[in-house]
Amino acid sequence: MPSLDPDDWSDMRALGHRMIDDLFDRLAAIRERPVWRPIPPEARAAIRDEGLPVHGAGPQAAYRDFTRSVLPYELGNTHPRFMGWVHGGGNAVGMLAELLAAGLNANLGGRDHAPIEVERQVIRWSAEILGLPPDSAGLLVTGSSMANLVAVLTARHRAAGPGVREHGVGGHPLVGYASEAVHGCVPRAFDIAGLGTAALRRIGTDADGRLDPHALRAAIAADRAAGLQPFLVVGTAGGVDTGATDDLAGLAEIAAGAGLWFHVDGAFGAFARLSPSLRPLVRGIERADSVALDFHKWAQVPYDAGCFVVRDPGCQLGAFRQNLAYLTGVDRGVGGNTPWPADLGPDLSRGFRALKVWMTLKSFGTERLGEVVDECCAIARHLGALVEADERFELMVPVRLNIVCFRLRTSHPDPDWVNGELVKDLHEAGIAVPSTTMIGGRRAIRAAIVNHRTTRADVEALLGGLRHLSAAYHQFG
Ligand SMILES: *Cc1c(COP(=O)(O)O)cnc(C)c1O
Repeated sequence: MPSLDPDDWSDMRALGHRMIDDLFDRLAAIRERPVWRPIPPEARAAIRDEGLPVHGAGPQAAYRDFTRSVLPYELGNTHPRFMGWVHGGGNAVGMLAELLAAGLNANLGGRDHAPIEVERQVIRWSAEILGLPPDSAGLLVTGSSMANLVAVLTARHRAAGPGVREHGVGGHPLVGYASEAVHGCVPRAFDIAGLGTAALRRIGTDADGRLDPHALRAAIAADRAAGLQPFLVVGTAGGVDTGATDDLAGLAEIAAGAGLWFHVDGAFGAFARLSPSLRPLVRGIERADSVALDFHKWAQVPYDAGCFVVRDPGCQLGAFRQNLAYLTGVDRGVGGNTPWPADLGPDLSRGFRALKVWMTLKSFGTERLGEVVDECCAIARHLGALVEADERFELMVPVRLNIVCFRLRTSHPDPDWVNGELVKDLHEAGIAVPSTTMIGGRRAIRAAIVNHRTTRADVEALLGGLRHLSAAYHQFG
């Protein structure tokens, strides 16, 4: 057998130590780097034009190519001035946990080993964070996109019964409800679940961006009157555009009254539970039937680490468990310890994602992570105040959580274009990375403060960079 282990471990050991040193050096000096740099054509070509390696060049050569072509041109979301989309900053303990997990090469599809217990404990801790009962079940998944899909499939099974798995949803005109600001992965989940995106009713929002409860009640009644089968209400804790959070307690009440499954997409907003001052904002999340959340966002665990938590374990098992001879659990030996994670979701083979979550939680504790969440919101409010104090900028939505949407005032005939170009200029200059969105049909520069490394000085640098780069557009007014 041509083993892939080295004959002599000393070179491999030295390489491993060097990798860790390089990564720590990089994190320690991260502020000195540009947030992002465009990939030069040569670096892109170096990756793209290499043929399939038939004869391996060895790990040292592979690492050299990584440091040359990959490392300098990564996304930049570990950097304190990365504020685009909703990206977590990761952490060094989580990074080491990934190494340990890969070292074990654990498969968490099932069977009896301690890594499964670690995942189960992470789910129990997640339930505790959310205020759900200790016997809640759940599953670690890639991200909230997958967690929301697992939620839709679980709720679909509850509403339509076991037959839906064999025969599909044909006989069940299921309809669900969410705010018009709901994340795009929820309609996608309706698509994948065979319900169709039109079966997700997008309900209007109030001035604070919260799903309008009267419109929700009316929509449920109208669908019932039309012979359809309402089955699910999706509330959002921390919306992706502006950070808006629905009145979760109110939605829980409506869902319970109508006998519908209540799911909360808490991708990042669920972690407001860790901050005593923000906690009231997500009141009602503890009444959810299921919740999606992302440890890889506000909890700073390295990608990827999404989580699904469900109040009634039986519902999740019912939606996913199969009866297969080659996957039957037994009473002892390696094949014990059922039900297995593979009985709870779409994946069979699964990595040891739970370890980096477990080690991050154990290392820092929920109190410290809650302080990070708090501080991110304080920095967002600081940025909002700076924007309001500067007549060159316009704050487009009040700062609701950790997201600031604003733009440059300009007399240019196309302000949307100017603001879009400014953001690209800022990225290419490596100063800061906000993203953009549309607020009321107008382009907004959007800064989401998610990274534990971000400081007030970093959002000041963002505004400074924008002021400086906007000079190029001032000829227009
Ligand atoms: C990020 C996000 C998602 C999608 O989660 P992924 O982890 O990217 O799959 C869903 N909903 C909200 C509110 C989000 O912020």
